[in-house]
Amino acid sequence: MKILVAVKRVVDYNVKVRVKADNSGVDLANVKMSMNPFCEIAVEEAVRLKEKGVASEIVVVTIGPTAAQEQLRTALALGADRAVLIESGEELNSLAVAKLLKAVVDKEQPQLVILGKQAIDSDNNQTGQMLGALTGYAQGTFASKVEVEGDKVKVAREIDGGSQTVALNLPAIVTTDLRLNEPRYASLPNIMKAKKKPLETLTPDALGVTTTSTLKTLKVEAPAARSAGVKVKSVAELVEKLKNEAKVI
Ligand code: AMP
Repeated sequence: MKILVAVKRVVDYNVKVRVKADNSGVDLANVKMSMNPFCEIAVEEAVRLKEKGVASEIVVVTIGPTAAQEQLRTALALGADRAVLIESGEELNSLAVAKLLKAVVDKEQPQLVILGKQAIDSDNNQTGQMLGALTGYAQGTFASKVEVEGDKVKVAREIDGGSQTVALNLPAIVTTDLRLNEPRYASLPNIMKAKKKPLETLTPDALGVTTTSTLKTLKVEAPAARSAGVKVKSVAELVEKLKNEAKVI
């Protein structure tokens, strides 16, 4: 079984992001970029399925600038077999990304496509669902457990207040939630080996996909700074402040 994993290059989750002075977006100059954490979980799940003998090949794909090769190499070091970079310098919306992924699905014919549930930069939580609509494949979103059984995949989904288990006919799309697994770190020998694994570069044009955006970001603002807290000396003072200053009791 071939698995296609979509990974996105995003600002590292440890970075405190700064908004550009003109409010047009987030300042990316000299900022550490990494693989989106939910995509790391997607790669890990594919690698575990290969280790169990369920998957025979893992293809990892990203859409982004030339530098996104770094995240593909990371995925290769974690256990993916080959990588595809769809090179684009534009900021693409989820529908454009989903259309490009659909073109890769048509070309690669994977049995399972694994994506993150959301990218931590835009928090869209849309791409997997849109890819589901474009391909017509069954989708299991917010997965906390994935089991392939014959021509079906059983997915436990995180839903409000509990878990729902669905059985999807393959080929299918799964998006990963936090509890699915704990991703491994790449070992140095595997990082070295990953440098020799195949990495193909394509363009949206070569895939016949137009990526004109139907969405424009008008303004990005940082959250309002919180004022510093104060220490009170007694419960009586706390109650007095809650009553007369905060006016919440
Ligand atoms: P989003 O819908 O943008 O929150 O992203 C959800 C998931 O879609 C991510 O975790 C990735 O698996 C995939 N995805 C989003 N953008 C890209 C991209 N530019 N390249 C590859 N995969 C992407």
